[in-house]
Amino acid sequence: MIKKYWDKEIETIPLNELKDLQLKRLKNMVKYIYQNNKYYHDEFKELEFKPYDLKKLRDIEKLPFLTKQDLRKFYPFGLVCTEIDEIVEVHASSGTTGKPVVGPYTNNDIDLWGEVMARSLWANGIRKNDRLQNSYGYGLFTGAHGFEKGAEKIGSMVITISSGNTRRQVNLMKDFSSTALACTPSYSMYIAEVAEEMGYDPINDFNLKIGCFGAESWSDEMRKNIENRWDITAHEHYGLTEIIGPGIISECEEKKLHINADHFLCEIIDPDTNETLNPGEEGELVFTTLTKEAFPMLRFRTRDLAIYIENKCNCGRTLPIQSRIIGRSDDMMKVKGVIVFPSQIEDALMKVNGMSDNYQIIKTTKSNITSLSIEVEPTEIRYRDGHLEDLEKLAEKEIFAILNLNIPVKAIQPKSIPRSTGKAKRIIQR
Ligand SMILES: [Zn+2]
Repeated sequence: MIKKYWDKEIETIPLNELKDLQLKRLKNMVKYIYQNNKYYHDEFKELEFKPYDLKKLRDIEKLPFLTKQDLRKFYPFGLVCTEIDEIVEVHASSGTTGKPVVGPYTNNDIDLWGEVMARSLWANGIRKNDRLQNSYGYGLFTGAHGFEKGAEKIGSMVITISSGNTRRQVNLMKDFSSTALACTPSYSMYIAEVAEEMGYDPINDFNLKIGCFGAESWSDEMRKNIENRWDITAHEHYGLTEIIGPGIISECEEKKLHINADHFLCEIIDPDTNETLNPGEEGELVFTTLTKEAFPMLRFRTRDLAIYIENKCNCGRTLPIQSRIIGRSDDMMKVKGVIVFPSQIEDALMKVNGMSDNYQIIKTTKSNITSLSIEVEPTEIRYRDGHLEDLEKLAEKEIFAILNLNIPVKAIQPKSIPRSTGKAKRIIQR
């Protein structure tokens, strides 16, 4: 029999049973951190909260949030709840905006990570006979390691190429007959560009069928472009170093992002008032890990905005769904009182025939007033046709339709924006 789900029992669990399981695990976890970590112990004491005060799931709202700043305060191992000797692997964020966020794992945490990643990749359609080209950067960053652990658990072949050396990526993809590609969405487009320069046709000259993309936000239009460019199905992955890395969600064949909620409890809050919102409302995602040992997170504020939904999906999974990330609060820009996310601009640009996926948002702030302009590369063919002002006008019109803002667009020479083998730099401060 063909196995549709990686873990049928959990992935199709009735919602009330899931909530019972979450409550049982949350009680254990709250007791565990109270007993094993001084910071949590003191915080609970100050709030006069005892672990047995937690009687229903919503009692979690009595507990404090954890922010990135808190994690930095306890850098590197202050929030660890096991003996340091129990830690067998450590990852960290790049730390471009301060001290890196550290992700320590026990043996059980590593098992858990492999399990949720296998569930995610299985939901994408990865099977034992697949060959996954793992083009996320190997290193401290969680990405590559999470994909490797999950794919190996399924039994797929993992091609551990890491990111960069793009011509070699193309050669190995051809020679090893890779069927799946894992990397940032923008890097997948760059690999296609290089493949074309090398004289290949990305659709007909490779065996690629599935893309597992994450670590940067990308619009629905970008997803369509990637799928058409390679003739593949492109799946979204969402992860955070603080929670476990990739593996928080499993995107199914309906392209719905099912939260692996037996391990990660999701709340949605109003980022301004901190109030808990109802399913269906847009707000900030807040995660609590239910089963992690070394570095459990209680009510971690992700700064990512999305919608949380509890409806059953056509794929048969009952695990709750989060919408695609509407925007990161950190990337949010305010222009003339209008909230702007880079993904909205990307969506508008991708709607214009003749535009490529290479663009940059130029952000200028003068006496506290922010203004934006866009530089975007047309496709080579469109660039040679000339009359670029027509193209610019079309793009400005699409942006106005979404944001009700006049943002000037400049079409620039193809291949003039530097390419990235990891996260693309979309916002330039000038
Ligand atoms: Zn589904």
